[in-house]
Amino acid sequence: MPEVGMVGGGQLARMTHQAAIALGQSLRVLSVTADESAALVTPNVQLGEHTDIEALRTFAATCDVVTFDHEHVPTEHIRTLVAEGHTVYPGADALQFAQDKGLMRQRLSELGLPVPAFDLLTAAEPEKVTAFAGTHGWPIVLKTCRGGYDGRGVWVLRDQEQATAVLAELVDSGDLLLETLVPLTRELAAVVARSPFGQAAGWPVVETVQRDGICVEVVAPAQDLPADRANAAGALALRLADELGVVGVMAVELFEVEPSAAYPDGLIVNELAMRPHNSGHWTMDGSVTSQFEQHLRAVLDYPLGRTDAVHPVTVMANIIGGSPDSPGAGIGMDERVHHLAARFPEAKVHLYGKGFRPGRKLGHVNVGGSDVELTRRIAGLAGTWLNDGVWADGYSIHDGETAATTGRQR
Ligand code: ADP
Repeated sequence: MPEVGMVGGGQLARMTHQAAIALGQSLRVLSVTADESAALVTPNVQLGEHTDIEALRTFAATCDVVTFDHEHVPTEHIRTLVAEGHTVYPGADALQFAQDKGLMRQRLSELGLPVPAFDLLTAAEPEKVTAFAGTHGWPIVLKTCRGGYDGRGVWVLRDQEQATAVLAELVDSGDLLLETLVPLTRELAAVVARSPFGQAAGWPVVETVQRDGICVEVVAPAQDLPADRANAAGALALRLADELGVVGVMAVELFEVEPSAAYPDGLIVNELAMRPHNSGHWTMDGSVTSQFEQHLRAVLDYPLGRTDAVHPVTVMANIIGGSPDSPGAGIGMDERVHHLAARFPEAKVHLYGKGFRPGRKLGHVNVGGSDVELTRRIAGLAGTWLNDGVWADGYSIHDGETAATTGRQR
């Protein structure tokens, strides 16, 4: 069987390993430490840094295909590996647009795809901020082009004074991106996969809900999304995968806005990820083919799997380490999972094997159903229970004794 290697030992590699096992394979992982999520579960771990070309070379020599759990491998290293005869997907030409928000904005606007008005600058060019605010008005959004995640590296600037203060902190942050603050109605994601053969497939467009810059909930499919907008989002993502030559899974994060002359489809692209993505975790229990299996199929140039949903609605809630001051902080994860199982037997828990830290993504839970409100409620209750050890609706874990004997408790 083929040997797929993933650079990065995080939860995406861990879940890709799960899919690899089902396909008769075992994922190889290049992990920085032995206690990362994927390094804990696959026997084929090489310890090393993704920035170290020697480590990458040694790793690639053991793999038929090299792919990524994150986007931080320098493109010059990817080009070196390819020049030396290794197969690496996605390639550097595609991946650069997921690594650098400035390059991505430029390329998308060249392709005529909907992006917010933007400008590029460095911290040494504060006059560009003044000029941009003069044209578009405050507030404006400032981002680091590289290295941001979960809202880190994004600032909403209210006025000149705040802009000066933030820029002063960013002198060593390289290229920066300025863009308008989009009056979005909600955030969507179109997740697709493309193979080297050129086959591509997209999952239903989802709604993503963020809190403090972190995704907390995904609703699949996005509810009350007009069919033409859903089709436009899917077509945009498939076209982009083709234009950029993506191989593997790509998530296109979108803002939904009121349609206007500039944005007739009511969609604006925010970000690209070229790997399995949080907005696709619902597919593990909610689609015929999970994004992890599809990523493997794509990088191996297998025919892609069906992307149909298997429930009318699937809701994913992220499990994010809660406050150590929560009244439920003393309830361990084992006990939390146990009580969740008693109360909501339909909930599917995915834990990443990570140590607890407040604010850290520790896992996610998927709930499939037919009633949107009920399914969202169950996923939300499951999420906060696993985060904090507290049932947000006041349910007592002692009620679980009743649940065990009388069936489910809502
Ligand atoms: P990250 O790389 O940290 O995920 P994003 O660029 O996706 O950063 O921004 C994080 C969040 O900030 C987005 O999900 C969205 O909620 C908000 N955001 C980012 N850019 C804009 C914008 N131009 N207008 C309005 N909200 C934005």
